[in-house]
Amino acid sequence: MNTSTSQALFEKAQQFIPGGVNSPVRAFRAVGGTPIFIKSAKGPYVYDEDGNEYIELINSWGPMILGHAHELIQKAVSDAIQHSFSFGAPTRREVEVAELIVEMVPSIEKVRMVNSGTEATMSAIRVARGFTGRDKIIKFEGCYHGHGDSFLIAAGSGAATFGTPDSPGVTKGVANDTLTAPFNDLDAVRQLIDSNKNKVAALILEPVVGNMGCVLPAEGFLEGLRKICDEEGIVLILDEVMTGFRLAKGGAQERFGIKPDLTTLGKIIGGGMPVGAYGGRADIMNWVSPAGPVYQAGTLSGNPIATAAGLTMLNYLNDHPGVYTQLEESGKRLADGFKASLQKLSLNYTLNQIGSMYTLFFTNQQVTDFPSAKSSDLVLFGKYFHAMLNKGIYLGPSQFESMFLSTALTDKHLDMVIQANEESLKEVLNLH
Ligand code: PLP
Repeated sequence: MNTSTSQALFEKAQQFIPGGVNSPVRAFRAVGGTPIFIKSAKGPYVYDEDGNEYIELINSWGPMILGHAHELIQKAVSDAIQHSFSFGAPTRREVEVAELIVEMVPSIEKVRMVNSGTEATMSAIRVARGFTGRDKIIKFEGCYHGHGDSFLIAAGSGAATFGTPDSPGVTKGVANDTLTAPFNDLDAVRQLIDSNKNKVAALILEPVVGNMGCVLPAEGFLEGLRKICDEEGIVLILDEVMTGFRLAKGGAQERFGIKPDLTTLGKIIGGGMPVGAYGGRADIMNWVSPAGPVYQAGTLSGNPIATAAGLTMLNYLNDHPGVYTQLEESGKRLADGFKASLQKLSLNYTLNQIGSMYTLFFTNQQVTDFPSAKSSDLVLFGKYFHAMLNKGIYLGPSQFESMFLSTALTDKHLDMVIQANEESLKEVLNLH
C-alpha cells in the first residue's frame, strides 16, 4: 500500500504541530508507523491522501453513527451557512435542540450546550461542586472524561496509551481533589467515601467505558453507585459523551435503567461538528449562570452551524428507531464472527462488545477494569492494527479504545471486517 503522501505530510506536520497531530492518539505512536492523513469520507469508507480506501470503524471516535457525509446533515449544514456562521446570541434552533435532548434523555430536565465533551465534564463537576458545597470528586481508573485538569488522574484513552495517566501540569491541589477507584469495585467506592465523609461533590463515570477499550459495568454496579450517591448526597454524573445516543436513543442510562443527576454529552450530539452538552436535574442545572451563581460561558456555544448538524442528527435518531435495531444486529454479527474465528484459531482473547461498540483485547483475562485491560499484549495489538490497515480496515490505533460501528456498514462490510480479522490474527501469530 502506498502511503507516501501521508508520510510526507506527517514529516512536515511534526515541524509545526507538537508530535505532528492535534490530538495525541492520532499519531500512531502506540502501534508504530506513521498516521494516514484523511482526505475525505463517505458512508462506511474513509479515503487517505494517497487514494487508499478503508472501511471505517473509528467514525471520528463516535460521532458518525450514520456513516460519513450523511445527506440530511450535509443539507442542514449547507442551509445553515447561508445565514452566517455565528451570532453569539440566542437562536431558535438552540431551543429546539434542548427540547429534543430533554425528550430523548428523560433524566435531563435542563441542558446547556458547550463546544466539546471536555467542556461538558469540566462544567458538570463545577456545578456539582457549587450545588453541594463540596470539593472532591470520584472518578474511575481508566475512564477518560476529556482533558480538564481534574480528570487527568488515572485517565484512560490517549493518556493511558501514552503512559501518562497523570499529566504534568496538573497542580497537586487539583489532583488532591480527585479520588480514584477501580471500575466495577463498589467496595472501593464505599471506602473512599467513608474516609472522605461529606467531602465528595460528585461521582463521575462512563457507564460503559470506551476509553480503556470497551468495558461493561458488572451487574449491580451502576445501581450500587446510584444507591451510594443517594445515601451520601453525592451528584451522580454519567459521562455519556461516547454512549449517548449510541447504545440507545436515551444512551446507556436508558439501556441499564439508571437515572443520573447529571449527564454529559458530546460526539453524536454535534453530528460531527464540535459540540458538547451537560444537563440533568433542574434544581442542579438552575445553579448555572445566569440562572444561578456557577459561572460557565462560551463565545461559540450553541453555534448555529453545529446546532443545525446536531439537531438534524438527533431528529433522525429520534424518528428512526430502526437505527438502533440495525446497530444491535451489526454488533452481534461482528461479535459472532470474531468469536467463531477465535475459536477456530484456538485463541482465548477477550472480546467485549455491546451494541455498536467493541474491543478485541489481546489478553486471555476477562477485561472488567483498567488492570485487566492493561494485561493485553500491546506489541501484538500494534502488529494486528497494521495488518488490518493493510487489508483496508481502519481501526483506532490503540488497544485502549473502543471501535464504533455506523449504520452505513452493511453485512457485506461487516463480513469483510470479520475475514480481515481472522487473516490478521493468523498473520501476526504465524498460524498457518
Ligand atoms: N468523555 C468521554 C467519555 C469521552 O470519550 C471523551 C472523548 O473521547 C470526552 C469526554 C472528551 O470529549 P472531547 O474530546 O470532545 O473534548
